Amino acid sequence: MRLFVFLSKNANPKVEYYSRFSPSPLSIKQFLDFGRDNACEKTSYMFLRKELPVRLANTMREVNLLPDNLLSQPSTRLVQKWYMQSFVELLEYENRGPEDPHALNDFLDALIEIRNRHNDVVPTMAQGVIEYKEKFGFDPFVSSNIQYFLDRFYTNRISFRMLINQHTLLFGNDTNPAHPKHIGSIDPNCNVSEVVTDAYETAKMLCEQYYMVAPELKIAEFNAKAPGKPIQVVYVPSHLLHMLFELFKNSMRATVELYESRSEELPPVTVLVTLGKEDLSIKISDRGGGVPLRKIDRLFNYMYSTAPTPSLGPKRAVPLAGFGYGLPISRLYARYFQGDLKLYSMEGVGTDAVIYLKALSSESFERLPVFNKSAWRHYQTSAEADDWSNPSSEPRDTSKYKANP
Ligand code: ADP
Ligand code: MG
Repeated sequence: MRLFVFLSKNANPKVEYYSRFSPSPLSIKQFLDFGRDNACEKTSYMFLRKELPVRLANTMREVNLLPDNLLSQPSTRLVQKWYMQSFVELLEYENRGPEDPHALNDFLDALIEIRNRHNDVVPTMAQGVIEYKEKFGFDPFVSSNIQYFLDRFYTNRISFRMLINQHTLLFGNDTNPAHPKHIGSIDPNCNVSEVVTDAYETAKMLCEQYYMVAPELKIAEFNAKAPGKPIQVVYVPSHLLHMLFELFKNSMRATVELYESRSEELPPVTVLVTLGKEDLSIKISDRGGGVPLRKIDRLFNYMYSTAPTPSLGPKRAVPLAGFGYGLPISRLYARYFQGDLKLYSMEGVGTDAVIYLKALSSESFERLPVFNKSAWRHYQTSAEADDWSNPSSEPRDTSKYKANP
């Protein structure tokens, strides 16, 4: 129960009402158990008709805390419109009990429509950030707020789509005949090396199209939990594929571009998949020259990434790279089920990217943003002076410390 109320800019009472509930995080095991044993469409309907508006409202309240200059950009307004429309559509089911003969089918259709409406949220939001930056320039304080916000906003979107997909895959007509053993979007026996190979092959095709060559893949497994057995996990393969594909594209591009002017053979990209009691880790190592430590954090920063460069646009010349959102979004996928994604670089030589997943599906709970007072506070603090020394700043006037004779 939340005990405080915000003064909201454009208080919509329903958004206000639903935003007072915290989202209910589910574990992969819960998704799986629900879908496998007693998949009941009515139960899912009753849960979602409340949980979806709750998740939407939580994020919509947070949108309102962004700087006005960003909110007023055309792309950002479009995104807000989509959210409001979907929210209103979901409210139609507030009072429709599952015994209503059309409620379940109408709800399914509505979910599919909502999902489609939100397909382009990420590039449209990115566009909004570009628009803002072009007009108002780069401000470290705003950038850190945008970073905080977008991480939460995109995580919310990942979770929203996860819930919708589970429902439409389990109860709709779009079940996937290619994967009869999947429970919705979850593979109860996801073979990690197979997904690694899939992601590699897709990235390799792109890489060869553009550069005519691509580094080879070397893959090894170390199963510390059950030696000798292939490494499997209960997971959403599309999420894993997304992360691996992004990492392979980056590694391949770095490798090929570093070796472009050399006559040597391309060093392979090597992958090590390991399983312990708690973590399943996947390390992707390349010899693409790495990134200096100073720049590593920047690679995950949305505002740096969307620097408006002439080459940037939906059809950028380099097919292996995009908006610069590859890494930050992949890290959100990893964190969404309590994992992580880290980059370790040895500048001049190469990069190790490690994806960490929870080995146990009972521990992979959704990690969801909650709109509450501490989130609210994040947007209020003003820019303050750096409390660490800055080598590029002017030397301080130390005359006052001089001994007075
Ligand atoms: P994009 O690939 O669209 O630029 P990413 O978020 O995937 O966006 O990566 C951001 C940047 O990080 C890349 O443009 C590249 O400069 C750098 N980078 C990422 N991975 C590697 C890597 N393995 N080796 C060298 N540089 C990398
Ligand atoms: Mg990339």
